[in-house]
Amino acid sequence: MTRKLLFPLFGLLFLLAAASEATARGPFRVGTVEADPGKSASGFLVVPDGVDKGTQIPVTVIHGAEDGPVLALIAGTHGYEYAPIIALQVIRRQIDPHELSGTIILVHVANLPSFLGRTVYYSPVDGKNLNRVYPGKADGTLSERIAHAITTEVIARAHAVVDLHCGDGNEALRPYSYWTKTGKAELDERSRAMAVAFGLDHIVIVTDRPADPQASVYTDNTALTRGKPAITTETGQIGETGPEWVTLVERGVWNLLHHFKMISGDAPAVEPVVWLDKNEVLRSPQTGIFYATVKPGQTVAAGTLLGTLTDFFGNPLAEIRAPFAGMVNYVVATPPVSQGEPLAMVSRPPM
Ligand SMILES: [Zn+2]
Repeated sequence: MTRKLLFPLFGLLFLLAAASEATARGPFRVGTVEADPGKSASGFLVVPDGVDKGTQIPVTVIHGAEDGPVLALIAGTHGYEYAPIIALQVIRRQIDPHELSGTIILVHVANLPSFLGRTVYYSPVDGKNLNRVYPGKADGTLSERIAHAITTEVIARAHAVVDLHCGDGNEALRPYSYWTKTGKAELDERSRAMAVAFGLDHIVIVTDRPADPQASVYTDNTALTRGKPAITTETGQIGETGPEWVTLVERGVWNLLHHFKMISGDAPAVEPVVWLDKNEVLRSPQTGIFYATVKPGQTVAAGTLLGTLTDFFGNPLAEIRAPFAGMVNYVVATPPVSQGEPLAMVSRPPM
């Protein structure tokens, strides 16, 4: 063999080796959505008909050219929480799978019936709150079947999960994240690091979530009870889609991609965090009309009036007051309230 032929032969062997490495990484599937390494694919996760009519969940798989963790980003668990939904539309365009190590699963709108039906909290189909029915049931009502699909197709395939929320269509909100502690030190540290990396400067510490993976209730807790770090973020309010909210989500996602070393470059400096270890959600004692008297982010004393509740004729029913001194995380900013629904959340740093 002449030297002339030897060089192309080595080149060919190198190409074959590179190709077999790519094959070894293989495609990544969520439902019927399949992406090869270095590619993105979008499509629908089908929730079949059951005791009620089924639905579809729009998802994108961004499958990096290189190995790395699988990060699931879930928007639209509550369909009237728009800022994260709009942010994932932007993220899908921004991320180049050739430059990515690992895989991102974008769940664009987890709760399409609620999104299209413009409902806060509850599904228009079965009246259930998707973020209270996890891990879901294959033979349950629609919200339970959506939860089951996300548990088995998305959370089961992810190494880390972010459930992206904001103030619902009726809630004015100051941005913050939730860090749920499980009591498992290593897992808690990984989730804590995610919450800090996401970059919102207030983090509420939650310690009362169920430990049973079969009764995980919440999206983030479904990941946590399966040993995977997870956080919930809150960035946006009352149906708004402005850049002040959307860019907070985008920034948080890019920060996490740095944190997990899924993209190259240095992670941005982490801002100081206010940890909020005591919190209380004030619920409406009756059905009626709510008039908020505070703004989100406002500092309140114990007993500060948060708002008043009236009947449908304007007669006062109740005064809602802060249970302790702290900060207003969110407050209902539109008139209708039903008995038992949240009116406001107050939290405070460790004493
Ligand atoms: Zn929500």
